[in-house]
Amino acid sequence: MISRIPVTSARSLPEAYALLEKPPPGLRVLAGGTDLMVQLQARVGLERIGHVLDIWGLRELRFVDRAEGLLRLGALATYGDLRDSPLVRERLPALAELSREVGARAIQSRGTLGGNVCNASPAGDTLPLLIAAGASFVVGGPRGERRIAADQFFVAYRRTALAPDELFLRAELPELAPHERLVYRKVGTRRAQSISRTLLALRGGALGGRLAGVRVAAGGVAPVPLRCRLAEAALEGRPVDALAVAAARAALEGEIRPISDLRGSADYRREVTGNLLARLLPELAG
Ligand SMILES: Cc1cc2nc3c(=O)[nH]c(=O)nc-3n(C[C@H](O)[C@H](O)[C@H](O)COP(=O)(O)OP(=O)(O)OC[C@H]3O[C@@H](n4cnc5c(N)ncnc54)[C@H](O)[C@@H]3O)c2cc1C
Repeated sequence: MISRIPVTSARSLPEAYALLEKPPPGLRVLAGGTDLMVQLQARVGLERIGHVLDIWGLRELRFVDRAEGLLRLGALATYGDLRDSPLVRERLPALAELSREVGARAIQSRGTLGGNVCNASPAGDTLPLLIAAGASFVVGGPRGERRIAADQFFVAYRRTALAPDELFLRAELPELAPHERLVYRKVGTRRAQSISRTLLALRGGALGGRLAGVRVAAGGVAPVPLRCRLAEAALEGRPVDALAVAAARAALEGEIRPISDLRGSADYRREVTGNLLARLLPELAG
C-alpha cells in the first residue's frame, strides 16, 4: 500500500527541513516504522497519508550522550541502542531495563524512542518513564528549535504539541542526584513483549528520611500518559510509612482515568496502579 504513497528519504536534517518548509498534504514521518507500518497494514488512517518523509537515514538523530548534567537521547535511538548503551545502563538503568522488555529483538533493533513519543499511545512504555524523569523534548523544523516539557507534550488522546512542520529531535533528561532513583513497573499480559495494561514510573529519593523531589507518572490509565501531581503532593516531604503510602494511593487512584477494554477493566487498572505505587515507593527511599 505504501508503494502508492510518495516517499522522500531525507539524508540530512536540512533536507528533511526543506520538505517540512511546505509540508505536502497528509505528510507523515517514518522512523523505524514499527507503529506506522502496522497502521498502514491495518489501513488505519491511511486516507490521511499523502506523503511519507523517511528519516531513518538521519544518523545525526541516532545517539546517546551526556552534556551539562543532561542525558541526551536522539530521536532515532532504538531500544537496542538504549538497552546496550553503557551510559544509559550506568546513569538510567531503568530505561535500559525497560528497553530490553519492549517487543522482541526485531522490534528493539528498529523501534525508536522518537517513534514511541510521537506515536503518543497512552500505553507507550517509555512515556511515563520520561515524564517521571523530568525530561524535556527538543523539537525542530525550518522555523528553528524549541523545548517542550515531557508532561506538556501529550495534549489529548494520541495528539502531541508537535506542529506539522516539526520533528522530534531528542529527549534531555536531568541526571539523577546520588540520593535519587528512577524506578518503574509494567503490568501486561506478561512481563515482556506485551502492551502495557498499566505502567507506573517514579523518580525521587529520601533526604533525612523524608521523600524529596518525587515525580509520579502513569501509562495506560488515562487518554494521555499522565503526570500524577496529586500523588506527588501526597508524598513530598513525607517519610515512606503506611500513612503516606495510603494517602498517595488514594490520591493516585482518584486522579487516573482508566477505561475498561479487552486488556482489563477500569477497576482492575485502578487497583493495579495503586498496588504498583505501594510496591515501588520503598525503592525510592533506598
Ligand atoms: C510486535 C510489536 C511489539 C511492540 N511492543 C511494544 C512494547 O512493548 N512497548 C511499546 O511501547 N511499544 C511497542 N510497540 C510499538 C512500537 O514498536 C514503538 O512505539 C516504537 O517505539 C515506535 O518507533 P518507530 O521508530 O518504529 O516509529 P514509527 O512507526 O516510524 O512512527 C511512529 C509515529 O511517530 C511519528 N514519528 C516517528 N518519529 C518521529 C520524529 N522523530 N518526529 C516526528 N514524528 C515522528 C510517525 O509519523 C508515526 O506517527 C510494538 C510494536 C510491534 C509491532
